[in-house]
Parts: sequence; structure tokens; C-alpha cells
Amino acid sequence: NQQVILKDYVNGLPKESDMLLKTSSTILLKLPKGSNGVLVKNLYLSCDPYLCCLMSKSQVSHLESFTPGSPIAGLGVAKVVDSGHSNFKKGDLVWGWTGWEEYTIITAPDALFKIQHTDVPLSYYIGILGVHGMTAYYGFHEICAPKKGEYVFVSAASGAVGQLVGQFAKLTGCYVVGTAGTNKKVELLKNKFGFDEAFNYKDEQDIDEALKRYFPEGIDIYFENVGGKMLDAVLLNMKTNGRISVCGMISQYNLNEEEGVRNLSHIIMKRLHMKGFIVGDHFNLYPKYMEMVIPLIKEEKICYIEDIGEGLESAPAALLGLFSGKNVGKQVVVVAHE
Ligand code: NDP
Repeated sequence: NQQVILKDYVNGLPKESDMLLKTSSTILLKLPKGSNGVLVKNLYLSCDPYLCCLMSKSQVSHLESFTPGSPIAGLGVAKVVDSGHSNFKKGDLVWGWTGWEEYTIITAPDALFKIQHTDVPLSYYIGILGVHGMTAYYGFHEICAPKKGEYVFVSAASGAVGQLVGQFAKLTGCYVVGTAGTNKKVELLKNKFGFDEAFNYKDEQDIDEALKRYFPEGIDIYFENVGGKMLDAVLLNMKTNGRISVCGMISQYNLNEEEGVRNLSHIIMKRLHMKGFIVGDHFNLYPKYMEMVIPLIKEEKICYIEDIGEGLESAPAALLGLFSGKNVGKQVVVVAHE
């Protein structure tokens, strides 16, 4: 059983050398007698920015830090190999919280979702059909209550969540501008995901100026993935009664002290509604979301781009690549093909 192990707690941004690829000769093909868990063969793993936060001992996430010496854990798609739980049987395809390893025993399978639609790529269940889709849906539709004709700005716009926010905004009839860190991503935003405009924030001396160029009348809705300087510039350009959905702040996750945001007083003057959320609190809406998104995928009214790493050995670099913008689209790692 090959595993990706956290060597020790990390301070700041982890390095590849903080993770170790370990191979043990024991391969579990059956659950221990009496177990009411589920033994799964992992197929796809999701690389997510918050996993790096969980490598630190003192972190603010609602999830527990990883234990040094144990495998990294995260969202994945897997196949049931053996089951002691009445809801699952051998051969079922599932998605949920699993280990960065070939085989995992999931002791609390209540949190696993059974995969219903297999005529779409299975990896979608750790992207558009899973947490990232729900994040875009909840953060955009439920928090921002968008209306046709409104002006929307999305940061980290080509990523797992951002590409969906842009497409949901277009389907709602909004005017959408996205920003990303390479020209290739900017092209994707405009030509693949249908954003009205897009720019490379790394090419801009002054993000405030860029926003004034793209939003001469101001921004109604900002979908926040980045934080720091980006948020500061956006606050200067929000319209009165604008809404900010605070989904993530990737630029701040691995700093020992968060950067100061200078323009917070605009929240008062402009009567902004700014709300953070944790998508896991809102999975009661998952069936409603699936009902909406499955037809959109099948009718090709929405698309989803993935960046796929091959093999567990590619996982540490794929994870860290999120912080330098190496991923183009949702970062997935294939552990095994079904
Ligand atoms: P992405 O697929 O968007 O990958 C991260 C991207 O962030 C990179 O590709 C890079 O793109 C950009 N980025 C990295 N560092 C910086 C930086 N310093 N400044 C600006 N941009 C940066 O990730 P996800 O879509 O999975 O996640 C997006 C955000 O949503 C994250 O902040 C994540 O933590 C959050 N999230 C929150 C959830 C919730 O429940 N609230 C659930 C899921 C995700 P580029 O090339 O454009 O710079």
C-alpha cells in the first residue's frame, strides 16, 4: 500500500520534502473481522489549498490537523473493495473523505456519498459534482442572490471553484470579469468559460486601476478566492449595497501574519454585505444542486476543466502547485484507473 505521509508539522507553506512517499508491503484486501467500516481502493484524489493549512499544528480550520507519520487525507473518489456497513457493498463507487494512499479503511462511512451518475467522468465528484461545485453554487447563488445584468468579479477565476462561478454568473445573465495569473488562463476564461472579460493580475501594476477599467460603474458582486491586496483593491470598486462572498483567501493561508487590508471601511460607507461560509454546512442543498447541474453538463451548457496528475507520487507537487498557480483548472491526482 503506497501512501503519502506527513513527516512533521509545518510552519508556513509546506515543501515537497515535508511529505514522504512510503510503500508498505501489506496490502489490505479484506476488512478486519467485525468492522462496520468500508475498505476502499482510491481512484482520484482532490488537491485543495486547505490541506496545506492542516499540516500546521496551530491552524484555524474547523478540521483537525494531520498527524505526523500518518497519510495525508482529503476528498477522493474510490471503489468499495469490502464493506461491513449495510449501505455499501463491494463494487460501489463512492466519494468523500479518504486517505492519500492506494487503499483506505473508512471507519465512519456515513459521510461517504454513493455515486449515482457514472456517465460523466468520475473525477467530477471531487470537482463540479462535489464540494467545489457546491461551493460555487452556494457562495454565488445563496450568498450573493445575483440578478440579471449585475456586474460580477471573480478572483482565481480559472480554478476549481472560480471557473464554475463565472459560468453560473453568465447563465444568470450577469456581466462577468475574471482574473487569473497567466495569459493561458486568461484565454480560457474568455474563450472556454465565456467570461465577458478577463485579465492577468500579475501583469497589472495597480489592480485598482485595472478594476476601474473593467468596471467603470463599479462591482455588484465579488466572489473572493484570494484575499490580501486583491480584496483591498476590490473594496475600492464595490458599488453601494454590493455583495462579497468570502469563499477563500489563498494569498493569506501560509503567512505567519495576515497582510493588512486597508480599505475595510468601505464596507460601512458602501453598505456592503460580506459573508464567509464553509460549504460543508450547506450540504442539505446538494440534491437541489445536482438536479440543476447534471442537465447543464449533459446539455453541454457548462464545462469543467481539470488538471490531472498521474500517480500518488505526483500528489505533493500537485498540491503545492496550487500556491504558485501551476494548476490549470481543478487539480486532481489519479491513483488508479477503475
Ligand atoms: P484553485 O483551483 O483556484 O487553485 C488555487 C489558485 O489560486 C491557483 O491556481 C492560483 O491561480 C491562485 N493563487 C494561488 N496563490 C495566489 C496568490 N498569492 N494570489 C492570488 N492568487 C493566487 O483552488 P480552488 O478553486 O480549489 O479554491 C479557491 C478558493 O476557494 C481557495 O481559497 C480555497 O481555499 C477556497 N475554498 C473554500 C471553500 C469553502 O467552503 N469556503 C471550499 C473550497 C475551496 P492564479 O494562476 O490565477 O494565480
